[in-house]
Amino acid sequence: MQVIILGSGSPLPDPQRAGPATLVRTSAGDLLFDCGRGVLMRAAAVGSGAGAFRALFLTHLHSDHITDLNDIYTMRWAMSFQPNPLPLFGPPGTATLLKATEAMLEPDIGYRLAHHGDLQWRPSAEVSEVERGVIFDEGTVRITVGPTDHAPVRPTVGYRIDDGKKSVVIAGDTVPCAGLDELCRGADVLVHTVVRRDLIEQFGLPRLTDVLDYHSSVPNAAQTAARNGVGLLLLTHLVPTPAPGTEQEWLDQARVHFDGTVVLATDLLTLGVGDSTP
Ligand SMILES: [Zn+2]
Ligand SMILES: [Zn+2]
Repeated sequence: MQVIILGSGSPLPDPQRAGPATLVRTSAGDLLFDCGRGVLMRAAAVGSGAGAFRALFLTHLHSDHITDLNDIYTMRWAMSFQPNPLPLFGPPGTATLLKATEAMLEPDIGYRLAHHGDLQWRPSAEVSEVERGVIFDEGTVRITVGPTDHAPVRPTVGYRIDDGKKSVVIAGDTVPCAGLDELCRGADVLVHTVVRRDLIEQFGLPRLTDVLDYHSSVPNAAQTAARNGVGLLLLTHLVPTPAPGTEQEWLDQARVHFDGTVVLATDLLTLGVGDSTP
């Protein structure tokens, strides 16, 4: 199994970091978790793409995590040679989001259907709204979903992917909580979104300070990893974006609480699961 960070950024536009998105390459195919800004540009860099995703999983419906759903939905359809419905998993509200996305795309769908004689079907998705339990079981790959805590955003979920003996958890945006602990127990890799509490408090901007109460700080994520016996902690969705030369500070803040390997995400960072060297 491989974990590829397609976007290590946050809502704030950054020339080096696309929006939140993580690709997990499994024996059941390419599984995409969240689809932030620029996701298909980054997917193209690793030979994947809208038509190649085995399924798309959303952790929650905050705009930074879903902003390029329309691009995936359109490209999967417009580049297909036969109907290819998108398997889409997400918390309750995902079906409404898909419907609204399709409504927004309606003029484009009309243009393309009218113009391309061989494109005779509409885009489509198979939507599953999920909150808890095993939601995908194919060959050696099993995916479990569980509730996280990103209140007042509700509901939000995390995912655990088991492929044979290896396991990866995608936490999404959350504070430490029992639902995430359950997913993380004994996992090889935890991909966790984090913010730097110390820096955000120094800035003192109310709009930014607001994010502290529903995100994990670096120590929070490290404690979750330690409490659950995780092997490797991969920090992503970095707020604020690390200034050049300060990467070590992020790692040091985690290492105070966690003995395992800590890695700071960059776009296209690729991790072989079970191999501690990125
Ligand atoms: Zn969020
Ligand atoms: Zn976010």
